[in-house]
Amino acid sequence: MKPAREANGYASDAHGKSGLRNAHRRSLMRLIFIATGVALSLFACLQMFNNNAPLAVVELAASAVLVISATRIMTTRYLQAWIYGYLVAAFSFFLYIIMMPEASTSAFVWVFIMPILSYLLLGRVAGFFLAVPFMLVGGYFFYQQLASLDSARVMIDLLNPVACGVLILLFMHVYETRRADAQDRLVSLAETDALTGLPNRSSFHQNLERCVRDARRHNHGFALVLMDIDHFKRVNDSLGHDAGDHVLRHIAGCLMARLRNTDYVGRLGGEEFGLILREIDPPGAFSLINELREQIAETDAIYQGARVQLTSSFGIAYWPEDASDVNELYRVADSRLYEGKNAGRNVVVACSSGSEMPTSA
Ligand code: GH3
Ligand code: MG
Ligand code: MG
Repeated sequence: MKPAREANGYASDAHGKSGLRNAHRRSLMRLIFIATGVALSLFACLQMFNNNAPLAVVELAASAVLVISATRIMTTRYLQAWIYGYLVAAFSFFLYIIMMPEASTSAFVWVFIMPILSYLLLGRVAGFFLAVPFMLVGGYFFYQQLASLDSARVMIDLLNPVACGVLILLFMHVYETRRADAQDRLVSLAETDALTGLPNRSSFHQNLERCVRDARRHNHGFALVLMDIDHFKRVNDSLGHDAGDHVLRHIAGCLMARLRNTDYVGRLGGEEFGLILREIDPPGAFSLINELREQIAETDAIYQGARVQLTSSFGIAYWPEDASDVNELYRVADSRLYEGKNAGRNVVVACSSGSEMPTSA
């Protein structure tokens, strides 16, 4: 069986495989824009003194563009395109200053920053594929500027930067791979309930908010279901806390088994779970949850040979019929859940007028 977080319908992907998380990439890009803009202005002044007015003007113009970009990068919807635009422009500029006839002999050092920027901003795969071609071309230009390779001194001049470039690329590759793995593990820990492996409360709420945003944008409905195990405390009191934990895992398994691809389930705390059912109408949501209720009531948990009979109560709220914002939707589902508790438990309550579906306890 897939891990619960993966099997869940639409898990968060704020932490994609693109290097740093988006918020970090934005602030890093802003810093890079400002640093590059300031550096270019300084180089433009030096080029003026060097009697290279055309290059100085280009550098000053680029510097102005970069400072303006720094104000836009925090909010743009096209972050990835901005990053590619910046990296390709910067790397092309580095190549230009290496190959131009009056190039400084130290211009080649800019090749070393290519893998660092690419890996940090684009991640391991895209970073590799962007940095390597530019590094190879930069290496070729540098090689062209060397005298013929017939002396050991020239060979050393060539091998020093080549070895350094390869090592930086290798270290960035290893560093980025480990950093991305560690970040994935941390995010997974922060979003997962350790006992059941389901998304935890904060992860569930983030998904609920995303679901409301999607529903508003695409004008479709979904159901929020809150579920609470009936008389769960008795399990702890009679069989012990470990039995209670076992029951919680058993219930999580029942919920995951019923989950459709588009559904999402999380543990909200204690013996309370939440489900988000998409692409379903109110009668469909009621019958799916009622089947789940019956299944839980019919499937005993087995703990150390003892059968533990369980029932659960459910409150369903439907978007957009029952609420106009996420907090209200949650309140409606919660109050229906407690209507169900008051009505005797082992029920699904899907509307506030009291048309719950009572069953044998
Ligand atoms: P009701 O039908 O009204 O929901 O009654 P209940 O007994 O299920 O609810 P109550 O809120 O009285 O008790 C919930 C219990 O769940 C109390 C708490 O000790 C237990 N609990 C909360 N988290 C855990 C957990 O992680 N493991 C175990 N074993 N018990 C837990
Ligand atoms: Mg309970
Ligand atoms: Mg409870």
